[in-house]
This record gives sequence, C-alpha cells and structure tokens, in this order.
Amino acid sequence: MDSLSIYIHIPFCEQKCPYCDFYSISNKNEYDNYVENLKRLIEHYSRIYHRKICTIYFGGGTPSVLKARRLADILCTIKSNFDVVDDAEITVEVNPCSSDDLDFDMLKKAGFNRVSIGLQSRDENELRLLGRRHTADEAKDTVLRARKAGFDNISLDLMICVPTQTKSSLTKSIEFCKDCNVNHISAYILKFEENTPFFKIKNSFELFDDDSQAEMYLHVVNELAKHGYKQYEISNFCKDGFEGKHNLRYWRDQEYLGLGPSAHSFVDNKRFYYSRNIEDFYCNIVIEDGVGGDAEEYIMLSLRLKEGLNLETLCSRYNFTLSKNLLYRINKLKSEGLVDFESSVVSLTKRGFLVSNTIINYLLDAL
Ligand code: SF4
Repeated sequence: MDSLSIYIHIPFCEQKCPYCDFYSISNKNEYDNYVENLKRLIEHYSRIYHRKICTIYFGGGTPSVLKARRLADILCTIKSNFDVVDDAEITVEVNPCSSDDLDFDMLKKAGFNRVSIGLQSRDENELRLLGRRHTADEAKDTVLRARKAGFDNISLDLMICVPTQTKSSLTKSIEFCKDCNVNHISAYILKFEENTPFFKIKNSFELFDDDSQAEMYLHVVNELAKHGYKQYEISNFCKDGFEGKHNLRYWRDQEYLGLGPSAHSFVDNKRFYYSRNIEDFYCNIVIEDGVGGDAEEYIMLSLRLKEGLNLETLCSRYNFTLSKNLLYRINKLKSEGLVDFESSVVSLTKRGFLVSNTIINYLLDAL
C-alpha cells in the first residue's frame, strides 16, 4: 500500500499579518486544548489508516507559538500511533518573532529534521509594510540557532512584489538568504486576497502590473540560480538534493492526511477538508470534496514542477489516452517557447512558468 503524508495545521498566530488569508486565530488560552484535541484525532485516524508515513509537516498559522514542548508532544503522538519511516522528512514552520525561546534542541530530539522560517524580506521597511514584527537580524539568529541544534535542512520564505520593493532590495534579500547558507528558498508573489485588510487598502499602494511582476519574478529566478538554488517548482528553489519532500508529494498527486481547521486531505482517492472553524475540527466535522487523483489533477499539479508532466506516467497511472488535440497543443506551446517537450515529458520553461495558469487551462481544455 502507498505511503501517506501528514499535515498538521497549527491555527494560531500572535498577531494577524494584514495580507494573510490563512486560517489562524490569536488565543493563547486555547493552545493546550488544541493539542489535546489534535492528539485525540491523530489516535482516531491511526485506527483507520494503516499506512507508512513518509513526510510530516507542521504548518500554520505559526507552529512555533506552541513552543517545543507542545510540538514535540504532538509529534510523539504521531510517532507512537503511526508507522513513521526512519528517514521521514519532518518539517516545522517557525516565525522569527515567536522563536526567541524556542528550544531547537528539544525539537531536534523529538525528531523534527527540517525548519522553514518566514523571513519574507531582509528590508526593514518592507517587513514593517507587511506588518511583520521581526527584523532580518532576528531571522538570521533563528537560522543560526536551528543550525546549532543540528538542523541542516533549513528553508527561508521570501515575498516578491511587496509594494516599494525594488530589484535592488530583492537582490539584497536573496543575498541575505545565501549568506545564511540555507539550502531551500520559497519565493511567493504577494497576492491581495479578498477579506484581508490589505485588500481593502489595495489602491493606496503603488501596485506591480503584470509586466513588472513578471520582471521581478524572473529576477528572483535568475539571482537564485546564480547562487546555486535551482528551481524545482514555480515558487520553490533549492540546493541539490534539498527539494521539500512533503510539498513534492502534493504536486505529484500523492496522498496526505491534513489535520486542523482548514486542512485538506486526499486519502484513498477521496478529498475532504475541515472548515475554517476550530470547533468543527474538535467535533471532527469533515467536508467531502469528491474524488481525487485523476488525470486532470495530475496534469495540473505536475506542470507546476520543473520535472514536468510525464505523458507515459499519465497514460499508465490513469488509464489515459492521449488525444491528437492535446499533442497538437503541447507542440504549439513548444513552438512558442513556453514548454519543453522531450522524451514524453512536458515541462514549463522560465517564460512558461510566468503564465502557468493559462497554459494549464489551455491543455486541460483539450481533454
Ligand atoms: S504569521 Fe504567517 S500565518 Fe500568521 S498571520 Fe502572518 S503570514 Fe499569516
């Protein structure tokens, strides 16, 4: 039977960042209750799914607000109830603000082996504009403390197209990451999501239009490449061998169990999720979201990856027949320099990544 991944959503933040649309609340009094409910549901699911666990990811929200003791407790519950493989990748997201007294030694000892730190920018003005409360120095200190505790797999998050950001400030942020000697960087374009405070004041910013967004994005791709970070997904870059295994499983359409309000799951070919409501999660009220793992989904997800869409795998895994129209469209995109197409593998070029959604929809329309 195929292995499974586990995603644990920690829905707490000390303070809400004005651009963020992830589900999180600010309520310290709820931490212990949340951990107990989470542990109860981990035990519940371990009685249903008897699969080897190959990756575990603690995301949020801000997992580090729970501190090492609670995070270790949750991980210990997973390990004692599920069959976690010896070399499982186990990641915890850490916010530099809540990491002052985070005991990295305890996290390492508990079995965490990867840390993802929300830097966003090294530029203090950009950080303030984003409503982040940490400084670049604090982020660097977090990297150093994690490394000292034995973590050699560390990722930093960067934000692209922050209002007031320039290519030069972006270059400095990238150099900062390189100087921190981390082996993984995620770089996302800032989106103004509805229902966020940023969305309401959107027009007060000087926004990046499509062309300048593309320019900033390509600048990031090129600068990171100069420093040896190869792109393996639209927004993810790493040194050789340090791809994030957990997220790779999402993009390869492999199965995972997500626990926590707003967490999504794909298990036994079914998709389901928890609403953005902590009480619904405590009552284990899941919302069915249909079947998953079909050809359409595989095409959509695998094209996000540099390794691309393998047409032979598509046909054998999903009993799929390639149509003339699909092949015609792939060759057309190739002639326009938007995809590479060799040995049955279709992958987006740098230019293609800029218009990935349009390309994916164009190919899906041919099914
Ligand atoms: S710390 Fe992260 S999850 Fe929390 S509000 Fe800010 S961006 Fe969102």
